[in-house]
Amino acid sequence: MALDLNANCLPTARTVADLRDQVKVWRADGLRIALVPTMGALHIGHMSLIEEAKKHADKVIVSIFVNPTQFAPHEDFDAYPRTEKTDSELVKDHGGHLIYAPSGTEMYPDGFSTSINITGITNGLCGDSRPHFFGGVAIVVSKLLLQALPDVAIFGEKDYQQLQVIKRMVADLNIPVEVVGAPLVRDEDGLATSSRNKYLTAQDRQQGLALHKALANVATLVKNGKTAADALKASEAILNDAEITSWDYFEVRDASDLTLVDGPVTRPARAFIATQVGKARLIDNWPIDPA
Ligand code: AMP
Repeated sequence: MALDLNANCLPTARTVADLRDQVKVWRADGLRIALVPTMGALHIGHMSLIEEAKKHADKVIVSIFVNPTQFAPHEDFDAYPRTEKTDSELVKDHGGHLIYAPSGTEMYPDGFSTSINITGITNGLCGDSRPHFFGGVAIVVSKLLLQALPDVAIFGEKDYQQLQVIKRMVADLNIPVEVVGAPLVRDEDGLATSSRNKYLTAQDRQQGLALHKALANVATLVKNGKTAADALKASEAILNDAEITSWDYFEVRDASDLTLVDGPVTRPARAFIATQVGKARLIDNWPIDPA
């Protein structure tokens, strides 16, 4: 085994073979293993996934891989923050056990030709505004799961549609891993934590606060008896006041199958938003109880 060992950092596996060697040792000791897939630039949202992982397993692997196949050519693949050393220290401080940070060619060697197409649950939301996105997520997540074969994998509700897509794919492909969702984590000012928040100026960040305020307002108005469409319409004022006048989506959807809800909310639902703020495309979502 050739794990990368740096002072203050965790052991890092860079190849599938090294990852599997370590997993094999843990399996021989009868230990349960969790995987937390990430693209790095880790923050408190990712740390909450590690905390959740520790509840389900003895050993926690955090993968760090900025996955090129989920970025369109005009998106921020090159600019995406890469902070592996501090990421590794953070994971160590929070009780993780191994970083898995494969290279691009380890994940996608010459001749790589496979794609995964998930229908239904990928309709709408990010599936519409980033048409390449879920294909890229599906291929990288299925590879990571099959490479590590953990007992459990943890994903955040910050990417709520992605969590539902992964649950669907894992069930459809009989991948023998339990998928667990973890709640969305916010900074003290209410902004959903995200690696892309690094792109925001102080002014952008102030503007970005309108997202969760608008979502929370939708939930309150629905609780007070408004239809989803009316609650959304009324909450646009909060976005407009922050000079946010366009968005990829600002919608209410069923919390489990993600079908669009316009009228009265009679089952658990969720309000979703995605919009560009400064250099960052921000997404957020908020639970809605039926009226
Ligand atoms: P990323 O590194 O952005 O691809 O995210 C890796 C994982 O962390 C995904 O499962 C995300 O949903 C999750 N995650 C990112 N931000 C948050 C957050 N603010 N709260 C909870 N989970 C998050």
